[in-house]
Amino acid sequence: MNYIDQLTAMRMNAQGGHTSPHKAVMLLSILDLIASGDAADNRFRLSPELMEHFRRYFDVVKTDADSCTPINPYFYMRSEPFWHHQATAGNEAVCIALSSPGGKKKLGEIIDYAYLDDALFGLLQDRSKRSEIREAVISRYFPNQYEPLMQIVKEEDEVGIYTSAMRNLVDGKVEEMPNVPYQTRDLAFSRIVKRAYHYQCAACGLRVLFDGISLVDAAHIIPFSISRDDDPRNGISLCKNHHWAMDQELIFPCSDNKWRVHKDLDERIDAQRSLIALDGKTILLPEEQKYAPKAVALKWREQRR
Ligand SMILES: [Zn+2]
Repeated sequence: MNYIDQLTAMRMNAQGGHTSPHKAVMLLSILDLIASGDAADNRFRLSPELMEHFRRYFDVVKTDADSCTPINPYFYMRSEPFWHHQATAGNEAVCIALSSPGGKKKLGEIIDYAYLDDALFGLLQDRSKRSEIREAVISRYFPNQYEPLMQIVKEEDEVGIYTSAMRNLVDGKVEEMPNVPYQTRDLAFSRIVKRAYHYQCAACGLRVLFDGISLVDAAHIIPFSISRDDDPRNGISLCKNHHWAMDQELIFPCSDNKWRVHKDLDERIDAQRSLIALDGKTILLPEEQKYAPKAVALKWREQRR
């Protein structure tokens, strides 16, 4: 059986005449992660990125009978010949014997990651092959939502390519970004910046993440309208409040990697006190140093104090 046949012949959960869309949605989601290079090592974890893609497709195909439970297909796809689970150390036997996913935390303790057949993963590196498989999956499982899903798939493919280009820019492999539509740019920039900061606000440290929904924004340090610069190092992850405060020039990320606040903020006013408390605090930088804000961007903010 070739891979397209396998991918379009999955055993889907069907109860009371309703077929659950979850496995096919999971498949489209992992294809996105391959396109963007987020799964370059053929390891798929129940990551915020996977959840985000899952939710995007799920919202198009769900019915009232369906719950957004990515953990189910992530686990039950083990009955398909191409999807495998790598157990965490010491849990090999428990992993094999597992008959249901249980909770996400528990599952994460038993399954380190899921992976595809190496040959399938290799095949999916090819952009045209990916397109062919995405179309086959959508035609087979979601003929009634063909148009809207193909629209998302097309956009995700472009975002994926642009995301890879952004990584190459950070790694010094390319010097210029291709010209792409606003939505493509914006989505790629937002994802790569938020991920670099582990979805945490670089000012207050707030991190709220639930099944692919996050509270932080990816803010341009020098606004895109001025800089035309989508380099992730011109980005910073901020909660809604601190994003607003930076845009209003009430707080400033400075080149000594510290926050400064507007001199006219008044600590006698309750609402302003929490902003003043940020003065002199260290910017919570990304774990990977290469994604840290570039000096020219921080200087630009600093000079507006
Ligand atoms: Zn914040």
